This record gives sequence, structure tokens and C-alpha cells, in this order.
Amino acid sequence: MDGMTVGELRRELEFLDDDKVIVFAYGSGDHWGRVVAEEISDIEECGYVTWSDYHGKYKIIDVNDCMCDDECSCLEEATEVVILG
Ligand SMILES: [Zn+2]
Repeated sequence: MDGMTVGELRRELEFLDDDKVIVFAYGSGDHWGRVVAEEISDIEECGYVTWSDYHGKYKIIDVNDCMCDDECSCLEEATEVVILG
């Protein structure tokens, strides 16, 4: 993964106005290619993601809701991340 780390984000945010609201921008996938935004309301300090070829994006792993039969193997290929949601 080559996205921003906590340290890089912290340095970028350090000098910004405390009262400004942060949103997360992403492609809506609509016909016009518009970019939409979501507010951030939660920080999960210890989340896990894995690459999904089907989605062409990283997929958040929920070990409490997986399809493994006996022992859960979902975290074997996973990367630990901080998740804003
Ligand atoms: Zn599993």
C-alpha cells in the first residue's frame, strides 16, 4: 500500500483551522464522472483491508461477518490500517 501514513496526514493537517470539517472525496461512478464527498464520523484505529480484484479497490475485512468455514483465514493476506468512516 502506498497511501498516506498517519504521520504524513498529521503533518499535512497541523497548520489547518481546527474548526474546518473534513470530508472524504471519491468517484460516484455516475455517468458524468462526478466526485462526491462523505463526512468522517469515526476513526477505527486498528482495521484490516485486503485487495479485492472484483472491486478494484481495497476491501475492509470484518472477521465477525466472514464466510470462512472453521478457522478464519481472512487476516492472512491483510494489512493493518487506520480506517476513517
Ligand atoms: Zn474469515
